[in-house]
Amino acid sequence: MTAVTDTPFVTAVDAEEALAASITAWLSARGLDPHSAELADTPRRVVAALAEFTAGYDQDPAEHLARTFPVEHSGQPIIVTGVPFTSLCGHHLLPFSGTATIAYLPTPGAPVVGLSKLPRVLDIYARRLQTQENLTQQVTAALDTHLDALGSACLIRSVHGCLAHRGAHKPGAAMVTASYTGVLRSDRHIRADLHALINTMP
Ligand SMILES: [Zn+2]
Repeated sequence: MTAVTDTPFVTAVDAEEALAASITAWLSARGLDPHSAELADTPRRVVAALAEFTAGYDQDPAEHLARTFPVEHSGQPIIVTGVPFTSLCGHHLLPFSGTATIAYLPTPGAPVVGLSKLPRVLDIYARRLQTQENLTQQVTAALDTHLDALGSACLIRSVHGCLAHRGAHKPGAAMVTASYTGVLRSDRHIRADLHALINTMP
C-alpha cells in the first residue's frame, strides 16, 4: 500500500482538519453531543492516533540498514525473536498486534547490522496501513535489498481486532504468516535448521 499525493486537500493539516470535522459530524449523526466534556477532544485524539499509526510512511528502512559493521565469523544465522509490534489493518482501521521473528543469513564475510535495526525495520512497516501478509514480505524485502545476505525470513503471529471484535467475532484466534527468501526459501534443510534454532529460544 502506497501513499498517494493527488488528494483534494492542499496540505496534510487541511486533511486532518477535514477528518476531525468528519468525526464531529459522525458523532452528531449518532445522536451524541460532540461538544460534551467526554467527546470534545475525540476528533483531535483520533487524528493524532492515526498519525502515530501511519508514521512509518515518513521513515525509510535504508537509514537503519545502511550502518553495518564487520564481524569475525560472519555467515551464520542472525535471529531476533519475540519482537512485539502493533499495526493498523488497512481494511478496517483496527489494530492488530503480536510478535515477529526476523532472521537473515549474511553472505560469509559480509558485514552485519546491529540487532536493534531488525525491530526498527519491522516498526517502520508496521506503522503503515497494513495487511499482515504484506507486512511480513516487506520486512524480508528490505533485508534483501539493503543487506548482503544469502536469505532472510520473517514469521509473524498476531491477533486482529477486526477478526476478534467485529465480523466473525473470534477473540484469541491468531494469524500466522511467513516469508522466506534466498536459500531460506530454496533449501528446506537450511530452513529446518533455522526453525530448530528459533525453537530453542524461549
Ligand atoms: Zn481488518
